[in-house]
Amino acid sequence: MEAELFSLRGKTALVTGASRGLGQGMAVGLAQAGATVIGAGVSEMEETKQLIEGINGEFFHFKADLAVDGGAKELAKTVLANFENVDILVNNAGIIKRQEAEQFSDESFREVLQVNLDSLFALSRQIGNHMLERGSGSIINIASMLSFQGGLRVPAYTASKHAVAGLTKALGNEWGARGVRVNAIAPGYMETDNTEGIRNDEDRFAYISSRIPMGKWGTPEDLAGPVVFLASEASRYVNGHVLCVDGGWMSS
Ligand code: NAP
Repeated sequence: MEAELFSLRGKTALVTGASRGLGQGMAVGLAQAGATVIGAGVSEMEETKQLIEGINGEFFHFKADLAVDGGAKELAKTVLANFENVDILVNNAGIIKRQEAEQFSDESFREVLQVNLDSLFALSRQIGNHMLERGSGSIINIASMLSFQGGLRVPAYTASKHAVAGLTKALGNEWGARGVRVNAIAPGYMETDNTEGIRNDEDRFAYISSRIPMGKWGTPEDLAGPVVFLASEASRYVNGHVLCVDGGWMSS
């Protein structure tokens, strides 16, 4: 009974940015729970494919550049032309640019917003329409601690992630009664390429680590359980929620 609640057998999940980092960790987690996984992104996803096929899962990959206008729409079109149903959408692809706010360029600001927010909305709308027609689906957006806090030298990233949290609630409000739940995961400090810069800064690394109540940074594997929970029946009455997976950071 408990295992059934978390089973994703027969479900299809679209995960953006599944080539590495958190997207790869979540893609493998969803496959472990039985879902067929479609990865979407710019580069090849050979490693993710091997990891999933290594556990007898099914993985497909579509090229998509979410930094360009229309990239998300094109991706949704391709995926829906190839798959009858998409049950789960994980909007994970994201970029960060670090620069003092007073020197932050319009180009950098736009690029971060395009990938982290505009494409996330466009893909949610396209796949959301498909889910609404079927009366079921789960959308999981990847937010951040910077959906709540300001951060340093990352104005565009912070703006985009605050917006992701807001959009999660807005879409959840509109679509929940029609069978489509929209939630977010806000990861804390995780060991991926995205945080390489701050992990290489000894003082910053020590300061951040000392503030994490669990005393360690998270890993992509730490998101497997939370994403399966939000994708599955186990969370059937959870909607519009931003789930912090942060080793306790937000309560410290
Ligand atoms: P990452 O290791 O840098 O991976 C980013 C992923 O996004 C890659 O698969 C990348 O694809 C994809 N991507 C980037 N630009 C893209 C584009 N234009 N079109 C399509 N895909 C694109 O980052 P991560 O740490 O796993 O981050 C994943 C998500 O979690 C992001 O939304 C990030 O903001 C969020 N997050 C991360 C942390 C953390 O501590 N790491 C904390 C909070 C939130 P390529 O491989 O092709 O470049």
